[in-house]
Amino acid sequence: MSSPTRHCPGIRRAVLACALAPSLALAAPDAPAPLPFEACRADLIAFAATQAVPQGLADAQLANLAPDPDVLAAATNQGEFVRPLWDYIEASVTPARIEAGRAKLAEHAETFAAIEARYGVDRHILAAFWGVESSFGAVLDNPAVVKPVVRSLATLACGDPARAPYWRTELAAALQILAWNQAPLERMPGGLTGSWAGAMGHTQFMPSVYHRDAVDFDGDGRRDIWTSVPDALASTANYLRAHGWKPGEGWGAEARLPEGFDAALADETTPRSLAAWRALGVRPARPDTLPDEAAEATLILPAGIRGPAFLIRPNFAVILRYNTALAYALTVALLSDRLRGDPGLVRDWPRGDRVLTGDERRDLQTRLIARGFATGGVDGKIGPKTRAALRAFQGSVGLPADGYVDAALLDRIRGTP
Ligand code: CA
Repeated sequence: MSSPTRHCPGIRRAVLACALAPSLALAAPDAPAPLPFEACRADLIAFAATQAVPQGLADAQLANLAPDPDVLAAATNQGEFVRPLWDYIEASVTPARIEAGRAKLAEHAETFAAIEARYGVDRHILAAFWGVESSFGAVLDNPAVVKPVVRSLATLACGDPARAPYWRTELAAALQILAWNQAPLERMPGGLTGSWAGAMGHTQFMPSVYHRDAVDFDGDGRRDIWTSVPDALASTANYLRAHGWKPGEGWGAEARLPEGFDAALADETTPRSLAAWRALGVRPARPDTLPDEAAEATLILPAGIRGPAFLIRPNFAVILRYNTALAYALTVALLSDRLRGDPGLVRDWPRGDRVLTGDERRDLQTRLIARGFATGGVDGKIGPKTRAALRAFQGSVGLPADGYVDAALLDRIRGTP
């Protein structure tokens, strides 16, 4: 298990991942009270010394540091994410990004070919991660987004007491990068830079992930994920391969369902061979997008029976290791298809649907539990357990058991005794 955090696994703490799985406990009533920043900062310097960070470096980086209020604001503003799935996907899979990605694939064709040969990870997937994580590096030049990593992580280590051990470990890892002279500081006038949550470089590695999975692909002796495209892309390929990417297999494909299909079969968890899916009437939405009949795939309906269906293969789970949000993984997957030249989805999203607010999601969970359908708690997150409870409820009242939540479903459960 390489996920850096229990609550928000993935290699970065991106806005979306944690938005869908809010985890920061900055305002949680049961969190320990934070130390004053100066005292906390002194503790961080002492902790860094136990992690092979030279004392002089830790002092120089931390002794006069002030917290960054924007980082805490970003960390606290993640809770109530109510954007529809397709809005998120379409904000990321834009014509401009597809065009930019195809240009990058051409510009770096030799690098992509060398990385494919070495790691067995498809170039379109790598380019999709690159596009989603940093707009092919463009974000790294945006001073409104890029922040000094040491300051951000120190701010979080001292301002998020519930997860302080995670943040201080990442901070020590960032200081180790500096101590080992791995970052091209001569090209980063602001020092080691990253997102507000400390994710760094073209494909947004957390410092601990950097230490484990970053590679020097251009052979200059440094693992430079900030300014070397070969290093950043090969590091991403190395991460994916290390987490189980199967060379030669895609992520899956859009599927076409037969009339009257039993949505309960799309339970997210039951793999079947493509031959078995075919026997159930499920076919690729476009010909030749899935491999031989013996290959296994799982059917998902991320927007319910009225939206597009997908047959996902084991590599899709590897994309989810990067960031556990389904919206994120689908965005990477669908962008990779578009970069390969595929024309886009056959079936449209159910665009008229309103997404529930956090309060409404908690109300839904409370009502499911009251009716005997266990959701695994009332946290406002529609995860696998809540979707399983929803399917059971839907089945019990004769609705398609697709586990999909919209306002109509909430109305239905509110009106069901
Ligand atoms: Ca290098």
